[in-house]
Amino acid sequence: MQLLADLEQQLQALDGQKLLRRRRTADTPCAPHVTVDGRKLLAFCSNDYLGLASHPRLIEALREGATRYGVGSGGSHLISGHSRAHALLEERLAEFVSPHLEQARALYFCTGYMANLAVLSALAGRDADLFSESLNHASLIDGTRLARAKVQVYAHGDTEALERLLKASSAKTKVVVTDSVFSMDGDLAPLPRLLALCEQYGAWLVVDDAHGFGVLGAQGRGALEHFNLRSPYLIYMGTLGKAAGVGGAFVAAHATVIEWMVQRARPYIYTTAGAPALAHALLTSIDLISGHEGAIRRAHLQQLIAQLKAALHLQRWQLFASDTAIQPVIIGQNAEALRASASLLEQGLWVTAIRPPTVPADTARLRVALSAAHTAADVDRVAQAINVAEAESVA
Ligand SMILES: *Cc1c(COP(=O)(O)O)cnc(C)c1O
Repeated sequence: MQLLADLEQQLQALDGQKLLRRRRTADTPCAPHVTVDGRKLLAFCSNDYLGLASHPRLIEALREGATRYGVGSGGSHLISGHSRAHALLEERLAEFVSPHLEQARALYFCTGYMANLAVLSALAGRDADLFSESLNHASLIDGTRLARAKVQVYAHGDTEALERLLKASSAKTKVVVTDSVFSMDGDLAPLPRLLALCEQYGAWLVVDDAHGFGVLGAQGRGALEHFNLRSPYLIYMGTLGKAAGVGGAFVAAHATVIEWMVQRARPYIYTTAGAPALAHALLTSIDLISGHEGAIRRAHLQQLIAQLKAALHLQRWQLFASDTAIQPVIIGQNAEALRASASLLEQGLWVTAIRPPTVPADTARLRVALSAAHTAADVDRVAQAINVAEAESVA
């Protein structure tokens, strides 16, 4: 059959470029010490930045949620699937991020991917101009495709280029969209400057804080707290499957924006509401993030980040300038990044090699992701192993 033959040929081409991906199957919960494909490994590749994904209190809260609300929601939010658990979570999330938004209201989604599709498609219609940062996450890029607005991409961190585009735009609705913490580089967007531009030119600023929520800011409220921002122009998207340890996402903004999304965002309307038990568990997750335990975990994570940066001594490879839990070691060629990842794996260390199209060509890398669940000894082990892997790679 020709259709299958075509696909097989394309798969072989990917394999030839060292771009074929494979999934590894974990038998243990998300944690630093895991068993994957039958092997015990020390993992540095999850986004479980606070180590909450297998926290006993969250496991208990999920059990309690299932007992109270059952398992499935049975319907979309606008038909019959909107549970008290969802409503309570939305209230809690709105209150949590309210220092940064005017008249904050929050809307819960099953995934961040869908939240991004929903925000951009609902806000950036045919009459809008949409300005998108070049290193934005794939879900935002797909959101710009679903939106009917005219899309213009500005270079990474280039606020001057953005200002020129905003100045030239005569669209009634302008939307600027950016990751706060770039997921493959770990650096931060210049949010204060971006927000100043948006206020000056009357544009929404959509901030995807997937890697900041729970981690950044003294209380874990994320990038807006980190930069001490507050504005009615802000539309905030936080995910709940990374630092929050469970799953799902939320959009928080002025109540009018959220009401518009409830009425008009197709990725919100035409899908079954998430399991209420997850929403119930997330209430405990927000308690953990905002409480004493969250503060202690964030402080520990900061220590581990500083420790890793001090312990890596690279010659040819390059540690990207990042102060977040995402610490990329840029290697360059796909094959060399794969070899490095394989050599770490032989030593029982799981660090993923990230290749194009996730990152630009010739910037294949090891993405070391740290978690508050790691110990100083764990970080020492991975740093020494990367130092050795680089030395061996030269030889
Ligand atoms: C993970 C991620 C998403 C998607 O969130 P999910 O809840 O995993 O669907 C969106 N944006 C960024 C920057 C991410 O890293």
